Amino acid sequence: MNRVLVSGGCGFLGSHLVDSLLLRADVERVVVIDNLWTGALANLAHVSDSRLFIEICDVERFATADRFDEVIHMASPASPPWYMREPLRVIRANVEGALNLLNLLRPGGRFCFTSTSEVYGDPLVSPQPESYRGSVDCTGPRSSYDESKRCTEALLFESQRVSGLDIRVVRLFNAYGPRTRADDGRAVSNFISQALTSRMLTVHGDGLQTRSWGYVDDIIEALARFFWRDACEYRGPLNVGNNREVSVLDVATHITKLLPGTRIKFMPPVPQDPTNRRPDLTIMKRVLPGWTADVPYEEGVRRTLDWFRLQMAARESAIRYEEDRRMAV
Ligand code: UDP
Repeated sequence: MNRVLVSGGCGFLGSHLVDSLLLRADVERVVVIDNLWTGALANLAHVSDSRLFIEICDVERFATADRFDEVIHMASPASPPWYMREPLRVIRANVEGALNLLNLLRPGGRFCFTSTSEVYGDPLVSPQPESYRGSVDCTGPRSSYDESKRCTEALLFESQRVSGLDIRVVRLFNAYGPRTRADDGRAVSNFISQALTSRMLTVHGDGLQTRSWGYVDDIIEALARFFWRDACEYRGPLNVGNNREVSVLDVATHITKLLPGTRIKFMPPVPQDPTNRRPDLTIMKRVLPGWTADVPYEEGVRRTLDWFRLQMAARESAIRYEEDRRMAV
């Protein structure tokens, strides 16, 4: 039976991965480490499984006498406005967090890490294969995230080379879906939450910059297969994402069509905003045969919109309940 530690398990992707881990019969305990910086306990509030333990703590500070068969290191904000606000904390979570968690792995255990397509920077080749070394600025505004992911990759691949550490490293392309914070700031969730509140969608620059938008269920299926389900020799890095490239403006326009009365407002471009991003999935096809990002963004956006609506309705009814209760006192 396996003991699994997930850092960042209360986050958007982390909580979905925990759901997937708890479906395993060979897991004895799942320990989630999360400081609730961008994650939320609400993301795991539906879980009543006694194998789940949540520790509210910075990943770089977490200490325990327990040792784990599998460590999955996901703790880090992934939204540019969030990681730009506290860059040192981002570097600590990724790099110091990985160094700390390595001490908690039992000998022969597996260390999994969610790196990012941001390691490709503003790419000069498209699509980006894992062999592409990227066009990244280590003094730029995105460096805390890009470079701490790159440094953690280096730490893990070098540990594998020097001491045979069993690792799995994925590079996640843009992911979206239910359990993204309303104030997360990334494109899809921002557009949806703006459409439902201010009715004005903020598109930075001309909106012609592209991304490859991966729906959460597809992304989690790839992680579950690569991290524990499939027996693969390949350790990474593995691109995980939808390879259909769509401009930011197209996504925003699609959402305005779903919610009549909403409009697009053009904002100044974000400094060093990558112009394009699309995964080369050649290695993915070999390593996880049959995996595809099945959910097109039109469908994924609809599901995410439904979830945001439900969240808003729940919040409003909680506020109304509280007001009624106060009036009654
Ligand atoms: N973006 C935008 N409006 C927003 C949020 C994001 O135009 O309200 C753009 C952003 O400038 C970038 C793209 O959408 O070009 C994707 O941004 P996101 O923060 O989702 O992820 P990134 O790939 O930049 O990390």
